[in-house]
Amino acid sequence: MNLCNIKTVKNIMEKYGTDTKKGFGQNFLINPAIPEDIADESYSYHREVNGEGESAVLEIGPGIGALTAQLCQCYDKVVAVEIDRTLIPILGETLAEYDNISVVNEDFLKLELKSFIKEHFGDSSVSVCANLPYYITTPIIMKLLEEGRGMLTSITVMVQKEVADRLSASERDSEYGAITASLNYYGRVKKLFTVSPGNFLPAPSVTSAVIRIELYRESPYSVRDEKTLFEVISGAFAQRRKTMLNSMSSSLSYVSKERIGQIISELGFDMNIRGEKLSISDFCALADKIYEEKHK
Ligand code: SAM
Repeated sequence: MNLCNIKTVKNIMEKYGTDTKKGFGQNFLINPAIPEDIADESYSYHREVNGEGESAVLEIGPGIGALTAQLCQCYDKVVAVEIDRTLIPILGETLAEYDNISVVNEDFLKLELKSFIKEHFGDSSVSVCANLPYYITTPIIMKLLEEGRGMLTSITVMVQKEVADRLSASERDSEYGAITASLNYYGRVKKLFTVSPGNFLPAPSVTSAVIRIELYRESPYSVRDEKTLFEVISGAFAQRRKTMLNSMSSSLSYVSKERIGQIISELGFDMNIRGEKLSISDFCALADKIYEEKHK
């Protein structure tokens, strides 16, 4: 079955008495080359890192299975989590030829991710691959980074192009923000290709892009306390128009503005510096100093 054929998508949805739901961010791929390329990008990196041995992938939001079918052809084991229960019987039909897929009807954001991965994949190395629902892109990515650390090889996802630009920005780019700096602590981001709205049903209003987050097994950046690191990063960007000193001093109640100013100059930064100029290793150095203050 060609799951990227518009007629096929419409007919199967009609057969099961359902339709695409905007509220669940449903924009299904209708160009077969795209799910094929996304699955290839995910799988080739998975093999490069993990070598031979059982390969496993977690998909978030299989829809009617266009990307899932490609993943089933590459990986030994596929687990797909879909929130929309009306799609479960459809997936039973569209993926009937594959015996290496399990579909789980859950809200991904509510899963206890570590135990879910252990339960479904045991000790296999796992990658994540998805055409993400755009209304919850950031919470999904943050959940994968925070809860999946040490268990995931990479996260290959389609997101809005604007989000891809933000996630892959370097210091000094105007798109660089708290999420970019935090993500750099967990891994490297590679922008792969862009996808125009006409490749989806229904067509979204924005251009999309596929990125791959190549995760570190252990972060190469050392910091005394991760909680403080992420507090410092979000404090530095809380008020983007302000200097880092002003933004941090209104967010971090446990250190005085005067002391934050001293720390900024002890680290050799200009007093008027803004958060977007700091690399993740700069943030780690800053967080270590703030941590010392916290525990004085
Ligand atoms: N993978 C399909 C494709 O590429 O054609 C569909 C992608 S569509 C952009 C996003 C999918 O995520 C939909 O199937 C939607 O129902 C599902 N979804 C939305 N929110 C979800 C959540 N919280 N947990 C799991 N799946 C979700």
